[in-house]
This record gives sequence, structure tokens and C-alpha cells, in this order.
Amino acid sequence: MKTKKIALLGNPNVGKSTIFNALTGLKQHTGNWAGKTVGQAIGYTTYQDYELEIIDLPGATSLNYNNAEEKYAVEYIKKQEYDVVIVVCDAVCLERSLNLVLQTLELTDKVIVCLNLIDEASKKGIIINSQKLSRLLNVPVIPTSAKNKIGLDKLLKICINYSPKESYQLTYPSHIESKLADLTKEKRYETLQKLLQEDEIIEKEIIQTAMQTAKTIEQQIVTYTKNNYEQKDRQIDKILTNKKTGLPIMVLILFFILWLTISFSNLPSDKLFDLFNILGDKIAIFLNNLPIPQFINDMIILGVYKTLTWVISVMLPPMAIFFPLFTILEDYGLLPRIAFNTDKAFQKCHACGKQCLTMLMGFGCNAVGVTGARIIESKRERLMAILTNVFVPCNGRFPTIIAIITMFFLKSSNHIFNSFMSAFLLTVVIIFSFLITFFVSFFLSKTFLKGYPSNFILELPPYRKPKIISVIIRSIFERTLHILGRAIIVAIPAGVFLFLLANIHIHNQSILIILANIFNKFGHLIGLDGVIIIAFLLSFPANEITIPIMLMGYLATGSLVEYESLNSLKNILVTNGWNTLTAINFLILTLLHYPCSTTILTIQKEIKSFKWTILAIVLPTVIGISLCLLTKIIWSIIF
Ligand code: GDP
Repeated sequence: MKTKKIALLGNPNVGKSTIFNALTGLKQHTGNWAGKTVGQAIGYTTYQDYELEIIDLPGATSLNYNNAEEKYAVEYIKKQEYDVVIVVCDAVCLERSLNLVLQTLELTDKVIVCLNLIDEASKKGIIINSQKLSRLLNVPVIPTSAKNKIGLDKLLKICINYSPKESYQLTYPSHIESKLADLTKEKRYETLQKLLQEDEIIEKEIIQTAMQTAKTIEQQIVTYTKNNYEQKDRQIDKILTNKKTGLPIMVLILFFILWLTISFSNLPSDKLFDLFNILGDKIAIFLNNLPIPQFINDMIILGVYKTLTWVISVMLPPMAIFFPLFTILEDYGLLPRIAFNTDKAFQKCHACGKQCLTMLMGFGCNAVGVTGARIIESKRERLMAILTNVFVPCNGRFPTIIAIITMFFLKSSNHIFNSFMSAFLLTVVIIFSFLITFFVSFFLSKTFLKGYPSNFILELPPYRKPKIISVIIRSIFERTLHILGRAIIVAIPAGVFLFLLANIHIHNQSILIILANIFNKFGHLIGLDGVIIIAFLLSFPANEITIPIMLMGYLATGSLVEYESLNSLKNILVTNGWNTLTAINFLILTLLHYPCSTTILTIQKEIKSFKWTILAIVLPTVIGISLCLLTKIIWSIIF
């Protein structure tokens, strides 16, 4: 079979990941906002008698080396180790994309232009003469609608049959051109970069030339048949990004999502508990009939099975509801608007508004939020975003927070009132995590990371109608099952380990209790107890298992109560001395303690500094413990 190497390049948010996924069958993350593709992905597909290797380069706004992603893209294109570069363009906003096409043509002739989002353009009355564009640039131009899988076949066909010709080249002012005469493409680009860096006026002229040419070409090939094609978006933006209404509406949306998540996840959670208990009894009977020691039987059922089923029952329902809803908002284009609305607050803390986007990524998994911080250009601000990302409750901690709220802060017997109340309290917890982030960012900007916020352009993408079915499939497979899978992988060995800790006795006391006793004094000092501290320490591999560890600790103290629902769980906790203060401080520590092992490894990989990684561990832990101490003191004064 013959082979071809195809690279995909494009501005952020033009549908590059959608094209990559459609061509390769892989599942890169897609979303309606700039900067979420932060690495390179490679996939394969076959077309006719060709095997095609497809390389998805990181999104680049320009090829002027503004950040690490652009540098990577430029270096890759310069190496010429591919057969074609497809530059994916946004047909709705062609001028911006053409700028990138023109810059790419400065580096290589092996270019094919893909005019994506053509469906959206035609809906907005934008007509593009793609043949004329092809003639002007002397490269193939293929209109596509990746979301609807239109035009992709033609794109591949052109890729395998295309042999590059001499393409369009920008003409700079004569005093610059005189320095470029007779140079090869590569030398020409190098010289331009040198000029760009040496002289600010020349830099402006070079950038202006590409922009002006993109504008002139756009005027020649695009016809707008509806004058007010963006009017609807602007009207919505007037409300959603308004100083007075923007933030309250965002908080309301958050509240609504959390309310839906809580209301609809309790019942399936309880049902899963029931189901797993029935199944567990059957497995126990089956195991009892096998010739294996009772200790191993117990380890499988009480250790592995109970921990595993806890993680699934508690985590799966809320994730299966929260993630699709969150993905709908992401696809619709709401996330950059949230960043826009919180931008001022971040600026006041001398941080970057894009930090908000990395926080939103952290809702799924803090490791993702940490990697996502690559969208922030300034090193100082990127560090700040990385160090504070753990304050956002990731998915491993979300269900724990919901469980504690449900058990300890809902007193009414009215279900509807309870669900509103718990959504309200969860919203308060999230607002609190934002406030802590602001506070710590400000503190960092005055101490370890002194400096002023940089200016940046936050692109507000057009509002796009999400494809509900694809959202559900994507959020279940990309996020829910992925995260659940990770939790399960940790839960199985953790179950064995914990069972051994709880059942191996030294002087009539289990190791778990001996460890808990060691931490009891410290635990009580901050309004908790030794078992809780041990649970936090041992859940270092994954936050999801804090409660199962705690249960093992408590059940090993002699309590025979089985946990089958949140109610019985509350009984276990209360029997072991929990009160409202314990619940509050447990919530505080859940929100504010060192990141899990995966996140710490990611932080070290991203910032490559032992010192900063240690700070990322120490900072939230010290804040969490101090706050717990403070609430304990206030509590003992009041009660
Ligand atoms: P990337 O940043 O370039 O990788 O962009 P994505 O592939 O994540 O796409 C950005 C958004 O545009 C997502 O919400 C996609 O579902 C949507 N999208 C991608 N291609 C098309 C298309 O051809 N038509 C429409 N209407 N939406 C698209």
C-alpha cells in the first residue's frame, strides 16, 4: 500500500479536531472555543490504495511564534516531512483564516485549503467563490462541513492526487522585498523572522502586509447576502456578556446544571447501590462454595467489590448527567463568555482572564486543566493558573461534595426543596473555589509570581447549535467512561490494599486503626479525626476513593452497619462522631488539599521544576488546614 502524510493546520475553533476525528475515527476533544487542542495527535486512515497518516497540529493563530504551539507548528511545517498541509479555514470568518493560509504559503507550497463550516456560512448568507480563491492562491480549495461529514471524501481525494505547484507569495513593501530577492522559501522565511524580531516598524509592516492581503482577497471572493448576519449573536452577547446581567446569568446556569445533576442522580445512585448489593450477596455465596480461604473471599467482596461498586454508584450518575450538560454549553460557545465575564476579576488579581478557561477544564479533571494552561502565553500567568487549578473541584471530588451536602445539610423532608437547596449549596462551594482562586492568585502575584497582567485577545466564537446526540456520545465516552475507568483502575488495587490495612492486626489493632490513631490528635485539632486524615492521605492516587477508605476505617472499629445508601452512610459517619463541623471541614479539605498523583505528575511535566511542583502541593494543603483550624476555633466560640 502507498502512504501519504497529511498535516492539519488551522486557527483555533475552525473544526480541525472535528475533521481529524471524522477522518481517523479517533476522538480528539472538540469544543466551541479557542485553545482547547493543546497537543499534536496522529491518526491513520485508508483511502483507495493509500494509507494516510494524519497529523493534527496544535491550533495556531499566526505563524509568528507567539507561543509554544505556533513555534511547534512552524517547525513542523518547515521540516517538509509531509506530503500536504491542509489549512482548515473558517468560512464564516474567512479573513482571519486567510491570514494563516498566506503565512503557511510563505513556508511551503504543499498546501490545500479546506473551507470548513460552509453550512454555517450559507446559513448566514455568506457566499464564497472557492474556485476564484483557488485561482488566486494557485492551490486547491475544498469547501467542507466537517460536522455533517460533507466534502471530506473530496478532500482526501485531492490529497492523494495533488502535486504542488508554485503558489501565491506575499509581496512586502519594496525595502523589505529587496532583502528577500532570490531567496529560497525557507531562507526567505528565516530572513523575515529575523527582520521581524530586529525592528518593530518592519515587524508591523510584515504583519500588516499579510493582514491587508487577506482582507483584499476576502473582498474579492466573499459576498454577504444578509447584512446583519451576526446580529443575533451580538444581541445574545449584549445580555450574556453585559456587566450587570452577564455574571448573574452564568451563576444561574451553573445552578440549573447542578440542580439537574443532583435531582436526577440520587435515584439511579440508590438503585445502583441496591443492584450491587444483591449482586454482591450472590457473588459472596458463589465464592463461599469455592475452595478458597475466607480471608481471600472477604478481600474480594469487602475490599475490592465494595470499593469498586461505591465508586461506580456514586460517580457514574452525576457524571452521566453533568458532562453532557457541560459539553452542550461548551459546544454552544458559552465557556469563553464565562471567561470574558470574569476577566476583570482575574486582571485585578494580576492574573490572566484565560485562567478561567483552565479552571473550567479542571471541572473534569485537574490534570486536564493543568495541561490546558498552555493556552496562556505568559509564563508567570501560566504558572499561576497551574498552581491554582486544584481549587476547582474535579470530577473525583464532585460526587463526594454532593454526598456530604445531601447527608448533612438537607434537613427538610421535601424532595424538591432539598434538591434546590443542595444545588444552591454546591453553587456556593464552586463560587467559594473561584474566590479562593482569586485570593491565591493575588497572593502569588504579590509574592512568588510578581508582575502585571498581560493583554490578551479572548475570541468570542459564534454561538453554535450543539448536536445533542453527538454531545451525549462524546461526553459519555470521552469524559464519563474515561474518568470512571481511571477511578476503577485505582479502586481495585486500592480495595485490596485497604482491606489488608483494615484486617491485618498488630497487637489486636488493625494497621488502619493504628495509623488513624497516630493522626487522631491532629485530626481533632482541625475539627476532623484520624480516620479522615488517613482517608485523605491514602486517596492520593485518586480522590474518588476518600469515602470508601473512611468507611473501611470506621467499619473496622466494630460498627457492623452496612453501607447501601447515603442514609446508611450518614449513620456510619454520625456513629463515629461526625457533626456539622466535621462535614464543613471535610468539605473544606476536599476542596483544598494537595492534587492527586496524576495531577502532580502532570504539573511536574508541564513546568519541569521541582520547586514549583512542591509549592503546588504545599499551597492548597496549608490553606485547607488553616481554614479548617479557623472554622474549628469559630465553632468552639459559638457553640
Ligand atoms: P478546532 O479548535 O479547530 O479543533 O475545532 P473543533 O473541531 O473543536 O470545532 C469547534 C466547534 O465547531 C465544535 O463545536 C464543532 O462541533 C463545530 N464544527 C466543526 N466543524 C463544523 C462544521 O462544519 N459545521 C458546523 N456547523 N459546526 C462545526
